[in-house]
Amino acid sequence: MADESTVAAGGLNAKVAEVRALCEAKGFSAEHSRIWEMLALIHTEISEATDAYKKGLPLEAVGEELIDALIRIFHLLSALDLDADALFEAKMAKNWQRPYKYNTVRGG
Ligand SMILES: [Mg+2]
Repeated sequence: MADESTVAAGGLNAKVAEVRALCEAKGFSAEHSRIWEMLALIHTEISEATDAYKKGLPLEAVGEELIDALIRIFHLLSALDLDADALFEAKMAKNWQRPYKYNTVRGG
């Protein structure tokens, strides 16, 4: 879990903590029995962003749905008690080591 230094630094762990506080204040639990539901709800926000883009809504509307997805991801990260900053840094370091267009055969 995030230590105080990463939360205080205003990184991802600070956002995770803020989202967790908001969700608790608004009655949305982070119990492990909701993990499957939380994963599914991340998909709904991506679908909403897709629909907003398809309909030609202002890009800010698309962005708002993407932020909804981030909020749901941050809530799930808090439920799983994961260090978002450490995971992000490790994954980015791994991705920087990969070759140009890695794992791409048929587009993407
Ligand atoms: Mg939404």
